Amino acid sequence: MPLIYSVKVDYSMIIENLAEFASKKFGQNFLKSDVYLHKIIQAMPNDELKVVEIGPGLGDLTKELVKLRNVTAFEVDKRLCEHLNTQFEKPIIDGNFQLRCGDVLEHWDRNSLIDEPYHLVANLPYYIATRIILKAFKDELCQSILVMVQKEVAIKFSALPKEKEFSALSVLASSIGKAKLCFEVGPEAFVPPPNVTSAVLLIEKTKSMNDEKFEAFLKIAFAQPRKKLSKNLVTSFPKDIIEQTFTKLDLDTNLRPHEATTLIYHHIYNELKDYLDGQQQSKRKKLSKSRAKNS
Ligand code: SAM
Repeated sequence: MPLIYSVKVDYSMIIENLAEFASKKFGQNFLKSDVYLHKIIQAMPNDELKVVEIGPGLGDLTKELVKLRNVTAFEVDKRLCEHLNTQFEKPIIDGNFQLRCGDVLEHWDRNSLIDEPYHLVANLPYYIATRIILKAFKDELCQSILVMVQKEVAIKFSALPKEKEFSALSVLASSIGKAKLCFEVGPEAFVPPPNVTSAVLLIEKTKSMNDEKFEAFLKIAFAQPRKKLSKNLVTSFPKDIIEQTFTKLDLDTNLRPHEATTLIYHHIYNELKDYLDGQQQSKRKKLSKSRAKNS
């Protein structure tokens, strides 16, 4: 059902004053370039699956998506929800477009975004872009992720081993599929222009992964990216166990975090994950002891 608000807003005025209308809090930089909108559409996987869009904004990308697919969109800004409900009245009535008003992350914590396989396509709000992508990695219904993000974020997800940008995010992305930076987009393509260069990132998933412990392990491994990997690991695991693991896996102790492959990270993790369990248990014990003491 479209939402009905009592106060009607003249959106032609808003579009004239878009820079003023845009909310920084919600990361609003509207993509106002037909060239890039069409490049995003061309980069979409070639099948019939439904599309989920996060942050449709004024609906420029949505308009193109609705021509091709059934779309469900999540928008947090009530002013934009009102506009979208009017602009997309026909596809809403026809059942080709569903608009959910509210914070997508809150919705995702309670339910899946939709209840069938889908592709995520979005010009993401940059302040939560990484969190959204990591959520999509865990969502089994999400088959691929095609998103505009800050260029640095796109590089971190798509870097390859030995490249200096290879990071915990690259390991996670290559653990669930294949990531590629499709193309860069300059600030001038947006209103208002962001302070950074953007890029469109495509991650084609072959599986999902919901392993918080592996993420915690990677945080330790990449804590100081320019240090040796073994040095990062000894901050959280016994030194002799790290030495044994490196010997067992025939790894150079001088290896830097960006030089190990995704497979190596999974092997090291398999050797160390029991210690991570132990650590988490002792952290929990310490916490409950200090809580008992303070109560
Ligand atoms: N898709 C539009 C475009 O390309 O012009 C707008 C993109 S703008 C970068 C990000 C959009 O995400 C805004 O419409 C903003 O209101 C919305 N947004 C921000 N935080 C959100 C959240 N937590 N849940 C849903 N939408 C959100």
